[in-house]
Amino acid sequence: MAGRRRRRGDDPSSTETTLLGAAALAAATDRSRRRRGAGFDTRRRHTLVVVGVLVVLFGSGVAGFATWLAGADEATAEAAPSASSVQEVSVVGPRYEPTAADRARTPTRITPATPLVALTFDDGPTPELTPYVLDVLKAKGAKATFFFQGDQVEKHPGIARRAQAEGHVIALHSYEHVYFPDLDQARARDQIVRGEEALTRELGVRPTMWRYPFGEASPVADAVLAERRLVGGVGWDWLSTLKGDFECPGADAVTRLVVTEARGDAVILLHDGGDAISCAGAQWEYLPRAIDAVRDKGLEFGVVVPTGRPNGSEETAVVAP
Ligand SMILES: [Zn+2]
Repeated sequence: MAGRRRRRGDDPSSTETTLLGAAALAAATDRSRRRRGAGFDTRRRHTLVVVGVLVVLFGSGVAGFATWLAGADEATAEAAPSASSVQEVSVVGPRYEPTAADRARTPTRITPATPLVALTFDDGPTPELTPYVLDVLKAKGAKATFFFQGDQVEKHPGIARRAQAEGHVIALHSYEHVYFPDLDQARARDQIVRGEEALTRELGVRPTMWRYPFGEASPVADAVLAERRLVGGVGWDWLSTLKGDFECPGADAVTRLVVTEARGDAVILLHDGGDAISCAGAQWEYLPRAIDAVRDKGLEFGVVVPTGRPNGSEETAVVAP
């Protein structure tokens, strides 16, 4: 279909955010190093470093054991302070409580004639936005497709597992949201394989579907995707000129975008990570409103599934119940 899977607007500065995050982390590490170093001689500093490393190792061992004990307990798994997640524990996003109308709603019976639209969320999972998105989808009885980053899944495995347990489709969006046209094949392979391994390790299922960060493909990466049997190039529909959620236009504007783009077989690009995190919290109210408004148009929600067609094709995926 002409004009389909048009690519526009995948969080162009997400890499920048990652870099800023890395810079902030480096600065924090630097600050703590300076603080710790002041007033101690080198030997004591080394002893402290060794003790620090042992504490972190012991801490992650305990956390790992606690997670293992808790099994599928999402809350415990996510709350367990590990060396990698301890920084994020304090960052908590909004939550959504089902309304009386949500509770009273009768689920729509989906038939082959029901036009389906796919909501897709990129760049998560994050503790800021993904739990809220999952709350809304649960309250509304809607399924969605999440294109997770490998590094985010490693940081927040409990949230990723919740999305999986609640029946959403989980697909891969690289390890750390890189711009593939700039990468040689070895680096492209590293991003694809590390992302694939992170999702497989944390979710117990190998991802089979792929979306390029920024929607920007590269031939060398396409070759790796084909070799890994990942269906690549899942795009999105963006026929209007309306702004995306990552541009922080507010709840009304994002609702308008979703409703405008919603039509049978449309794949809609949204985010539960990346730049969208920096938008004012009130923007997130778009999601319950947009879901209701799309249903008012006679549409229902489906998920993206691979067609099995080769990478680079414009139609690598379809929307299914
Ligand atoms: Zn992205």
